[in-house]
Amino acid sequence: MADKDQIKDILRMVKFPGFSRDIVSFGLVRDVALDGANAQISIEVTTADSRVPEKIAADVKQTVGEIEGIDDVKVRMEINEPNQQPKPGGGSSGGASGNPAMQKVKYAIAVASGKGGVGKSTVAVNLACALQRILEAEGKGGVGIMDCDIYGPSVPLMLGAAGRPEIENDMILPIENFGVRTISMGFLIDEDTPVVWRGPMIMKTIQQFAQNVNWGELEILVVDLPPGTGDAQLSLVQTIPLEGAIIVTTPQPAAANVARRGARMFDKVNVPQLGVIENMSYMEGPDGGRQALFGEGGGQETANSLETSLLGQIPLDPNIRVGCDQGIPIVVSDPESAAAKEFVKIARQVINNLVKK
Ligand code: ADP
Repeated sequence: MADKDQIKDILRMVKFPGFSRDIVSFGLVRDVALDGANAQISIEVTTADSRVPEKIAADVKQTVGEIEGIDDVKVRMEINEPNQQPKPGGGSSGGASGNPAMQKVKYAIAVASGKGGVGKSTVAVNLACALQRILEAEGKGGVGIMDCDIYGPSVPLMLGAAGRPEIENDMILPIENFGVRTISMGFLIDEDTPVVWRGPMIMKTIQQFAQNVNWGELEILVVDLPPGTGDAQLSLVQTIPLEGAIIVTTPQPAAANVARRGARMFDKVNVPQLGVIENMSYMEGPDGGRQALFGEGGGQETANSLETSLLGQIPLDPNIRVGCDQGIPIVVSDPESAAAKEFVKIARQVINNLVKK
């Protein structure tokens, strides 16, 4: 005789389409009922893509149907439409007019990558610091980072920001370091919170980050998206009113394909491309010569195919990693380094692109 626990266990083998994570850890399984040899599974999913629930239902039927003693599997699927992309308030006053928390945020920009490990968070943090320096010198408003990486929130460590955010009038206050205001799941959970609990928290947390954080006056909010281009990321970019997106990639030509997939996600929700940043582009030798360790051309190729520009190329520099580990981004610790100068050059272009829009 099959039992419910057996069904719940085996449901962990059903992956969310396009993800390596399963539907149980994503919190999609609402109920499992068993009546003799008949199983009924209730699933709730938020997606605009009808193929996602179809694929999940088919996989659930097949997987649960393989349990000995189960003759029939019924799947009850509840599909929620993701929120529509909130339209920016228009012109330079931008921001999400319908969302009070974001009203004082002039421009929100996403930093995304097709896959993990390309240095997306490193780039987001250094870019935010570079933007902050330029804007402060010009007497303009502040800069923030919203760290949306639930599984590996690394922004607080990289920015040397620690502590528990305070709550004031039901709003979360970001934590500030080097003049950059940050909010991250890393502030709200302990490192040993089981990853399975985080799945169901994703959308709720991001909605909180989008609606319940008192950023104050911000000129630019950098949104560090989780790596990848799946449905969860899509829901995310629909939750936050974005003025544009930056894609981070690495120089190997094959990386361009992965990066392009990321960019297509923004097309779906009409978020314009602001440009491509190529990371780990070259290593500078003691003689000043450049060595292309990971090949060449990935950034330019990605930019060409997205019809946007290559904003810059960040060298592979051990001091960048050391800066991340010590919580002092290289833009702050060594502004004269080639990497820091490149970040500032990129930040300048981003500001120009935003103002032009
Ligand atoms: P992602 O956000 O894409 O997963 P991270 O930003 O966490 O990647 O970076 C992964 C690792 O690579 C980190 O240890 C970081 O310090 C290091 N790293 C990123 N960019 C560079 C670089 N240009 N030079 C040296 N180390 C880098």
